[in-house]
Amino acid sequence: MLLTITNTTAPATDFGYLLHKNPARLHEADVSRGRALVFYSEAAQDRCTACLLLELNPVELVRGGEQLEDYVNDRPYVASSYMTVAMTRVFGTALAGNCQQRPELVHTKLDLSASIEVLRVRRGPVEIEELFVPLGYQVSAIPHPLDEKFPEWGPSPYHRVTISNHVTVHDLLSHLFVLLPVLDEEKHYYIGEAEVEKLLRHGEGWLATHPAKDKIVDRYLRRRSSLKRLAFERLIEEEGSTLAGADEAAESALNEERELERPLTLHTQRLNRVAEVLRDLGSKSVLDLGCGEGKLLRRLLAERSFEKIAGMDVSYRALEIASERLGLDNMPERQRARIDLFQGSLLYRDKRLSGFDAAALVEVIEHLDAPRLAALERVLFEFARPRHVVVTTPNREYNVLFPTLPAGETRHRDHRFEWTRAEFEGWANGVAARFSYEVRVEPLGPVDPAHGAPSQMAVFSFPTGATQ
Ligand code: SAH
Repeated sequence: MLLTITNTTAPATDFGYLLHKNPARLHEADVSRGRALVFYSEAAQDRCTACLLLELNPVELVRGGEQLEDYVNDRPYVASSYMTVAMTRVFGTALAGNCQQRPELVHTKLDLSASIEVLRVRRGPVEIEELFVPLGYQVSAIPHPLDEKFPEWGPSPYHRVTISNHVTVHDLLSHLFVLLPVLDEEKHYYIGEAEVEKLLRHGEGWLATHPAKDKIVDRYLRRRSSLKRLAFERLIEEEGSTLAGADEAAESALNEERELERPLTLHTQRLNRVAEVLRDLGSKSVLDLGCGEGKLLRRLLAERSFEKIAGMDVSYRALEIASERLGLDNMPERQRARIDLFQGSLLYRDKRLSGFDAAALVEVIEHLDAPRLAALERVLFEFARPRHVVVTTPNREYNVLFPTLPAGETRHRDHRFEWTRAEFEGWANGVAARFSYEVRVEPLGPVDPAHGAPSQMAVFSFPTGATQ
């Protein structure tokens, strides 16, 4: 198994100080049941890549009594708890957040990407996104090439995964340290209280507010309820809130933005307008993509003309909140049959998105990295291809009118971009032309003569008379 980490922030070789590994040398360490090698595949001013190669001896694994079930298994080849143990062994100082020679580098954010060959993820790329996207990563997961060779075996759980972000080396290693075993779900050593300590130490500063924190703690501690209790008691102390604060964590992101816009109750206006447009288009079945906590879904449910409603979000926690808020568990059967919630990512082609009259993306696209919009466009306009698509996004020009927003900042820290009116229109026209839709754009909220409205909406439809 191989973990490579690339730094593209110049001078890129500073990275060597942070990892405590000289780029000019090969570093070798014995680990239980095998050995770990660290070497650099490139070390230039603009790009430096460190590789951690972990070789486990399959026979040793079986003899060691850790793999009792099968002689032949995936353990020697899949990034798992063996990899994290090796990481502590070879990158221990960096993981602890130390750097003796250049201490000032510890807090420096770099453009880093890490690739892992290979990761076993049963539920596919969505699961990787759920864990890494909230931490600001861009994620790509490519199924193992075996998938193509043996299609009759069904989709392979094995993926080549790359995550990229502007982060400190310490944060990247900590995220990997905690999340790789969460994805893999098998641990080769005994889980005791020391694991709670490790989880909290490496989760410091990010785990308490991670929307999937319940799942992370549960899986990391292998579902041992006594340990989970210990972890949660401590996590809450750190967070300075109550367990009910889990909802808050998932929502804090949204709330921050709402706070800013509150004087205008803009979000309410926006949601009402989207529901109205969807109704006026005569849509009977509607998809709410990136549905969050389900505010649009609630409005759609209230209108009898919407016969089939589905909400999708990449965040499992957001869906849980939506389900709770909408009262799905206690809903009368006929009402319940109208709505479906499911987890999924807009960046992957998905059969569940087909067959709807309309799709809405309310304040979602700006949460995706701009280069990934092309994937979303194909997923939505080429494959799912609903008759109508409604997209809303902030109008950046309006930001100067928010009294508390510092100049040049986006409305929300997770916004990857905010477009001017011209930029949004340009995008909308391009998409319409490429995928044979018609489009119109309208302002959302009170229009300022100089800066336009706070938000903007594009309504895409099949050309009049067209069926496909
Ligand atoms: N539409 C909701 C929520 C907007 S916040 C509302 O207006 O209230 C943006 C939402 O997009 C979040 O819930 C986030 O989890 C979701 N999201 C971000 N990236 C996504 C992706 N790749 N696929 C699906 N949902 C995504």
